[in-house]
Amino acid sequence: MTSTPALRALADRLGDRLLLPGDAGYDDARTPWNLAVEQHPAAVARPADVDELRALLDAARADGLQLAIQPGGHGASGSLEGAVLVRTAAFDGIWVDAAERVARVGAGVRWGEVLEALEGTGLVALAGSSRVVHTVPFVLAGGHSWFSRAFGLGSASVRAVELLTADGRHRWVSDDDDPELMRALRGAGGAFGVVTAVEIELFPARELVGGRIVFDGADLGPVLHAALAAQESAPDTVAVHASALRVPDVEAAPPALRGRTIVTVQAVSIDGAEVLDDVLAPVRAAGGVQLDTIAPIGIEQLAAVADEPTDPSAGYSWARFADLGPAELDALIAAWQGPAGGAVMLFEFRGLGGAIAAPPARPAISGSVPQRHVLSARAIAVPGIEPAVQAGFAAIREALGEAVADRTFGTFLEAEPSYAGAYEADELARAESLRRTIDPEGRFRGNRDFG
Ligand SMILES: Cc1cc2nc3c(=O)[nH]c(=O)nc-3n(C[C@H](O)[C@H](O)[C@H](O)COP(=O)(O)OP(=O)(O)OC[C@H]3O[C@@H](n4cnc5c(N)ncnc54)[C@H](O)[C@@H]3O)c2cc1C
Repeated sequence: MTSTPALRALADRLGDRLLLPGDAGYDDARTPWNLAVEQHPAAVARPADVDELRALLDAARADGLQLAIQPGGHGASGSLEGAVLVRTAAFDGIWVDAAERVARVGAGVRWGEVLEALEGTGLVALAGSSRVVHTVPFVLAGGHSWFSRAFGLGSASVRAVELLTADGRHRWVSDDDDPELMRALRGAGGAFGVVTAVEIELFPARELVGGRIVFDGADLGPVLHAALAAQESAPDTVAVHASALRVPDVEAAPPALRGRTIVTVQAVSIDGAEVLDDVLAPVRAAGGVQLDTIAPIGIEQLAAVADEPTDPSAGYSWARFADLGPAELDALIAAWQGPAGGAVMLFEFRGLGGAIAAPPARPAISGSVPQRHVLSARAIAVPGIEPAVQAGFAAIREALGEAVADRTFGTFLEAEPSYAGAYEADELARAESLRRTIDPEGRFRGNRDFG
């Protein structure tokens, strides 16, 4: 084990806010949300404020360690050996100025809390499908929102970033002060320092409507084709996601669903029920509707649309941009239902386009996405299953051939250790050169490198 005298000395001062291997609570504290990723950091810190962050930075430097910032660990991607894992829960401030359409959000805040703070304002933030994902890493890595077709990716909504850099300076950075740094932070922002808060733009929503329509697997083909057509015809104020899920035949699954296939179409509109009903009419007609939760919602209810799991779990996933037409959708379904696809529990395709395809509102490495879909596939991690799951992902990719791109959103890279799956090589070289200037010792370790 590496000797860490400076950290040990700091631990005497910080108590259980700095846990080293062997300390009670260390194992719980090092565990990320994605339980399939094993992390063994030199310590886990839960600093109370910026002074404690600076003290951690000094101790890490003295002991030859890095700092890896990770509020939750949905995006955990490596072992973290040689790094102090920093949890940011204490940075829990949320401040909303509805008149100016701006919010400041601390690094420990989850999207669910931001959405609650926006209740009754008539404004939306560019949140994704889950309430437990943290706002700061989401916008630092791109961030695909229900509202991205209307207003762009989460990263482009960032007006300013509050950052502690390796030189110990803690300050707000904006495009006026450092446009090159802001551009990199907007999509590849995990490795430049500790972001303690972000200032994000808020957007008006005329009338928010959303929910999901659930069908039995017997209707899979017609429903998914109708959803694909709905994505094509929907105005930019509407987002449609479609998925097919094979519920595992295991005791933990709800008895009524065990071993069944479920097809779900989720949709959100900022432009009222009439518009959304028009878009979804062919979907509703494509099969036997088993559940339909589409209804007017407050912004604080946004996460109920997808109703995603909120507890940590172990999973494998794969995601890439794609251009799906009816033939590609048939190929996708055939691959998923074929022998190799059997280990893949779920696939989902989200309709892109609109503001996602246009140049971002503010300069951002996350750029624009010309493809019309993002396709993702997932499986629960159980011992020994990974080779079969990876073969299933490969079978899907192969079936779609050139319709699948080699990029995805930075936030969809999951356990992939490099941003190479999200950005072009010249963009990454530019970000890496900037990182070397700001953090020449390489004191900060993001969850992805720029190689
Ligand atoms: C159920 C679920 C639903 C999701 N839905 C969406 C979606 O709709 N759209 C979408 O785009 N993504 C989505 N994601 C992906 C999610 O945005 C990423 O996993 C993202 O990494 C946030 O996860 P987290 O809050 O656990 O951050 P972590 O995994 O804890 O952090 C990710 C990385 O961000 C960097 N980082 C985090 N905080 C800081 C900081 N304060 N300073 C500097 N760097 C920092 C670090 O490099 C860190 O390793 C979803 C994920 C899950 C599990």
